[in-house]
Amino acid sequence: MYEPLDFEFNQAAPPGSAHGYLVPEPSDCMRCGLCLNTCPTYQLEAIDAESPRWRIRTLSRLLFDKQTLTDDEQTHLKNCVQCRTCESVCPSKMAYGQLFDSALAQLTTKKPFLAKLGFWLTSHKHWRYLLLPFVELYRRFKLSALMRASGLLAKLGLTEIDSVLTQPTLSPLKSHYPSKTQRIGRVALFTGCLTEHFDRATHLATIKLLTALGYEVVVPFEQRCCGAIHKHNGESEQALVNANIAIFNGLDIDAIIYTATGCGAMLADYPDNAFKYPLYDINDYLVQQNINSLRFAPLPIHAVVHEPCSQRNLTKSQASVYPLLQNIPGLTVSPLADNAICCGAGGSYMLTHPVQSQQLRRLKQQVIKDANAELVISSNFGCILHLQTPQLPLLHPVCLLAQQLLDK
Ligand code: SF4
Ligand code: SF4
Repeated sequence: MYEPLDFEFNQAAPPGSAHGYLVPEPSDCMRCGLCLNTCPTYQLEAIDAESPRWRIRTLSRLLFDKQTLTDDEQTHLKNCVQCRTCESVCPSKMAYGQLFDSALAQLTTKKPFLAKLGFWLTSHKHWRYLLLPFVELYRRFKLSALMRASGLLAKLGLTEIDSVLTQPTLSPLKSHYPSKTQRIGRVALFTGCLTEHFDRATHLATIKLLTALGYEVVVPFEQRCCGAIHKHNGESEQALVNANIAIFNGLDIDAIIYTATGCGAMLADYPDNAFKYPLYDINDYLVQQNINSLRFAPLPIHAVVHEPCSQRNLTKSQASVYPLLQNIPGLTVSPLADNAICCGAGGSYMLTHPVQSQQLRRLKQQVIKDANAELVISSNFGCILHLQTPQLPLLHPVCLLAQQLLDK
């Protein structure tokens, strides 16, 4: 049983604090437990050490009381998926994510060589394009089975990466796509690092829709990874942030568009007014356009929408998906029953915490199965990669719209 602490209801958020949330003051946690039922790790373990309120208390001991944490305590902290759902339900508006980020440097353990190489590659696009043909050869010659059988994959700690590896795209997008109709503007597409190679379909669908509406689309090759994967693993993201700000601000455009809400959440977290152009989730952007001027082929099926945590809790763009998809005649759409609970993808969490991640995946897949829908929609590539199976394809909303578009 917890005693309420020095919580002051309706305490004003300090100027400049993100999303109106309180700058972390762990003592403002009332320990009311309202966050428990939406915390994925608490759902799995049902112990207080896997709950947001325990983590807040422990982070407070680490950051403010300068206490040393035991290995066990550090493990429970690091088990956090960083989904930030606890923030959205917390009556004290605890800025849990900010508190957690402040502690990351002290929690980070020594990374193995291959993890370091992974971080380096996400930051160096030219090297990715040089090395990706080898990934494709690895896939094409089905070396995975050999590596698995020999035990080498497990020894190298690559089992999880191997299981989500899809066909990479080996060449970059063009730098410019002209409008296909009366020109109404010019936008830039943020492609991300892994999504640039493994989610080309969503980028091409985005370009198809925007150019059909009358936009020129530019895709600066020099753009970098958003930095989310670095930030969430205690690595410095500053060089990537600075480079992206300089590259996009150097363009002459109306807006910056992203398609993966995981990247979008990070871009939106860049310093205030970092970009001189407005930043949009593609769903939000399209729904504000004259998209009903385009014609879409009917699709008389029912789809459920998986709302990624990055979209629900950070970019807050999930509501746009529903009216956007209503442009497809015959399609009915509803939210997935347990959208408040993270699917376990969590950016790199699916690689760093495979056990918990797979447990959460199975729970989400069961909910999807129970929904008995013919199609599942999601706006985050990481979630799609994590949840999809050959029997259960997931589609980004723009892929479905582009697939049904009649005005080619
Ligand atoms: S909902 Fe907020 S105030 Fe309540 S226990 Fe969770 S973090 Fe603390
Ligand atoms: S961020 Fe997510 S996993 Fe972490 S404590 Fe909050 S609800 Fe739980």
